[in-house]
Amino acid sequence: MPLPVGQAIKVGLYIFKQKLKGRKRYPLVLMLEPLFRCNLECIGCGKIQKPNEILKQNMSPEDCLKAAEECGAPVVSIAGGEPLMHPQIQEIVEGLIAQGRYVYLCTNALLLDSFLGKLPVTPLLTLSVHLDGLEEVHDRIVDHKGTFKVAVEAIRKAKKLGYRVTSATTFFEDTTVAQAEKFLDFTKPLGVDGVTLASAFRYPDAPDQDHFFGRKRTFEFFNELLSKNKNGRWDINHSPFYLDFLKGNRDYDCTPWGNPNYSVLGWQKPCYLLDEGYAETFEELMETTPWEKYGHRNHPKCADCTAHCGYEATAAEDATASFKNMIASAKAAFS
Ligand code: SF4
Ligand code: SF4
Repeated sequence: MPLPVGQAIKVGLYIFKQKLKGRKRYPLVLMLEPLFRCNLECIGCGKIQKPNEILKQNMSPEDCLKAAEECGAPVVSIAGGEPLMHPQIQEIVEGLIAQGRYVYLCTNALLLDSFLGKLPVTPLLTLSVHLDGLEEVHDRIVDHKGTFKVAVEAIRKAKKLGYRVTSATTFFEDTTVAQAEKFLDFTKPLGVDGVTLASAFRYPDAPDQDHFFGRKRTFEFFNELLSKNKNGRWDINHSPFYLDFLKGNRDYDCTPWGNPNYSVLGWQKPCYLLDEGYAETFEELMETTPWEKYGHRNHPKCADCTAHCGYEATAAEDATASFKNMIASAKAAFS
């Protein structure tokens, strides 16, 4: 089962409501970045190169909760930077849960141990732990020895305490399918409730510019890898239609308004990967972003992108586009 049943139902009902209202563009997941600071310097990171005066800033809990209300997405992914470095992260998480939203708290887990037992244990909260491969690969990508061991210990402890935990995994160009397979086999006995997968996005500011997948290679890689996922071998935390897209079996256009990004800088145009200016309000973002300029067919910076923030919402829209698609999607989810 790729997504929690409650979340799938909540998101499905939300999509129907939007369709009944006749909305053409609506958000599914708010990408909230309440700070850009981090205690790591990963080689592929495009967030931590901001100037010091921006890195010092923390978004207030009130601002975070207001942004969630303003956009109305049923799911919020809290990223950054490292969210656990935010002095009021507990208040932010609890406030979003009190609003009834599904919250994914993305973390590199270096500080997670001290939050376990304090963060609420609820199906509405998922701890999404950054793990880019087995020990040697992960520690090289995050450029810090020992990080893998800390993350794995934190996952084990979180699972014992009853938290829902997923791993968030980005593959770089030099990862082989065999390595990815070994890594995914490792996550299953670890007890994670699913793995989110991505191929690394070429951030213009990332220190390492040489190890990014092209679009063709992404599809080949995931096709080979995901074709080995038989009889529940791995739990992948994505919708079946998005996984089909990653395998190269569905040709989707990007719908970045499905995953709007809000950070200390404002509402980022058009998505959290590209930096094409900011809007002050969600309404301004929706009305003033030239959406048609983006997507792999339309913009050179989007050419290799297959990211969930652009294409998972397209897959969700497709999965609810007809009765036939709904049945196919539900069948794939429960198979
Ligand atoms: S843990 Fe995340 S935010 Fe921190 S440096 Fe790595 S990729 Fe960037
Ligand atoms: S294709 Fe990727 S980078 Fe371009 S707008 Fe969509 S999500 Fe953003």
